[in-house]
This record gives sequence, C-alpha cells and structure tokens, in this order.
Amino acid sequence: MAPRALAPGLSVVPVRSPTLPPATHTNAWLLGRESVVVIDPAGVWSEPQEHLAEALRGLSVDAIFLTHHHPDHIGGAEDLQRRTGAPILAHAHTAAQVDFTVDQLLGEGDVVQTDAGDWSVLHTPGHARGHLCLLGPGGHLVAGDMVAGEGTIVLDPPEGNLGDYITSLERLRALGTTALLPAHGPELTDPSALLTHYINHRHSRTRQVQAALQQLSRPAEPLALVPIIYPDIPVFIHPIAARQVLCHLQWLQEQGTVTHSPAGFTLST
Ligand SMILES: [Zn+2]
Repeated sequence: MAPRALAPGLSVVPVRSPTLPPATHTNAWLLGRESVVVIDPAGVWSEPQEHLAEALRGLSVDAIFLTHHHPDHIGGAEDLQRRTGAPILAHAHTAAQVDFTVDQLLGEGDVVQTDAGDWSVLHTPGHARGHLCLLGPGGHLVAGDMVAGEGTIVLDPPEGNLGDYITSLERLRALGTTALLPAHGPELTDPSALLTHYINHRHSRTRQVQAALQQLSRPAEPLALVPIIYPDIPVFIHPIAARQVLCHLQWLQEQGTVTHSPAGFTLST
C-alpha cells in the first residue's frame, strides 16, 4: 500500500507494532518527496516490516529518525537499515538505551534536511529523556509520543518526568504549529487547544493526587492512592496507573508540596 500523503513531501505509513492498546500501529512518517527520512520504523515482526518496505518501494531512504527508545518506535530500525543502508539518527539518551548503533546523535537546534525542506530538531523530554520532535515546513510537527491521536501518553519514571513533560508541552504550544503528527492515531489539527487540554488534564490529575493524599491522611505509596484517583479502572491496570501517580507525587515532591519517607508519601506541613 502506498504511503498516505498529507502535504507535498509529507506522508505516513501506519505499521503494526507492539504498542499499548487501544493503539495497534505506530505511524512511520515519511519526510521528503523522492528520498525520504523515515520516522520511527516500529515493526518488530516480519509482516509489518515487509509492509513498510513495500510502501517505500521507489523511494530512496536517506535516514531513519527515532523520536525515542520505546520498542514500539524502534522495532524495525535495524531491519530497515539492513534493507537500505540508511543511517540511524537519535538523541544520545536514546542511543544509550538501544542495543544497536545509532549512527548520528541529534539534539536541540540540529536540522534534518530533506528534498522538501528542512526540519528542526526539538529536544522534548518528559515521556522519555531523549525524546525528539521535528518542526517542519508549513508548521507541521512530528510529535512522537508527546501527544496521541489514539490512546493516552504514559509516563513511567525515571524516563517519564511530569515536570519535564508539562514544560515540553508548553514549549510545543508556544510554537504555534498547524498540525501535530503523533506516533499513534491520526494527525491532530488544532494543536493549541489540544496541548492546552493535555496540560490542564495533568494539572487537574495532580490536584486529585494531592486530594487523595489528604483524604488518606497517612503516608502512602502510589498503589494505595490508585483506587481513590481511578475508582473505575480494572485491578490489572492498577500497577500501570500507580506509575502515573508516582509521576505526580514526584512532581509535587520537586515543588516541595509532598515529602517521601520510608513509610510513603505525605503532604508537607
Ligand atoms: Zn513511548
């Protein structure tokens, strides 16, 4: 199947990947017209890898760009490199986490050139320490896992850091982009409203975590707060929810609102 075009020099191939439900695919965004930079080739199985290779037929692959190190973003990078010889580009933190060689390290202010214009590299930690976005022609932003067109963004410490995440979201909002191109789900065409919603949602969840600690009125670990904050989620999700609660607690701790002792987290007096 041919890549779906969004703009001249910008198209996408959704690739089936081992991602978190409800998402089932990771978007391989293609930057360029005849020679392309492939973002996040994610297929870890041969059939999705073949599918991407088929979609790339007739194009030359200049580079493979990884937004961050999660398996549902990097799974097909080595396979695509074997097929094309293209270099793999990523942040140093990402390079330190993967078990293959990253050929070129990228960071804030670097530029990725294509035959359809330049894309500026933004370092946006929060979901992962080495997370990169790309801002390109027409105000399109390759957003990786900063936002999702499908499902939610999970923050898992220590890679996940809520304070960094909110700072990065605010930064993306200030860019005045025209569309966000997420790794999962469709492109998002009202970036400012969406990013405001994401930021407000995290702030309101933080207030909920604070209220739950107050309600419990004893030192607590994240798991003990989960049923208060998320009364409707099934028990098997509690451990992953506890990681989210931990992010909020750590952020409150950074702000001096919460302290941590061997007994658990408590509100500062
Ligand atoms: Zn991720």
